[in-house]
Amino acid sequence: MGDLTVTIRPGRRTEIQNMPFEGNGRGYTILGDMFNASRRGQVDYSPSSRSWSVSRPHTNAVIHGLAARYGRVTVIQHGGVEKCVEACWKTGLPENAWLCECACAGRNHGSGQPFKVIVGGNGPGGQLSVQARAPHVFYVG
Ligand SMILES: [Zn+2]
Repeated sequence: MGDLTVTIRPGRRTEIQNMPFEGNGRGYTILGDMFNASRRGQVDYSPSSRSWSVSRPHTNAVIHGLAARYGRVTVIQHGGVEKCVEACWKTGLPENAWLCECACAGRNHGSGQPFKVIVGGNGPGGQLSVQARAPHVFYVG
């Protein structure tokens, strides 16, 4: 069994993986009690991914509740997207990377290589390349 892990993604329900088993269906009560759940559906279980989930506003309460009950919790927080403008990755000079004012902070500068996905292209700023920012991992408890 892996580490007790809470995964947070923008605009998604917060997932809890590897929660210790304390009896059939007990997870609904254990997690629900952490934020005084008032109705069914606020705590959900997915048999296919074997993970529990709660709606995003209850994330803090659940992380602290899990840490208090089970000890250490691994939290994986996915952020937004990194953006890099065409003037940076396509036409920027690599030797000027330290002067880059782009969200890529010079990592793409003049590389000719955009991030994963390219959007736009018709505007005055040219193409914008984007990719998901690397998740932030930390430990509670
Ligand atoms: Zn850039």
